[in-house]
Amino acid sequence: MPLYDFVCQECHREQELLVRGEEAPKCGSCGSTALQKLLSVPAAHTAKEGPSGPPAGSCGSGCGCFPG
Ligand SMILES: [Zn+2]
Repeated sequence: MPLYDFVCQECHREQELLVRGEEAPKCGSCGSTALQKLLSVPAAHTAKEGPSGPPAGSCGSGCGCFPG
């Protein structure tokens, strides 16, 4: 069952409602069918993870990747 976010035009309440076929969703608060569907925004992919791989020059001496 698809769940969508709606905001009621009457009472301006945001809610998640199941949408079944051609059935118009109703506001759970005031019962109005004047609902505006909100575009679901996927969770923001914030850059919590650093760049993959070790930072350059972190090998130190004894590693072949560090010249000199
Ligand atoms: Zn409402």
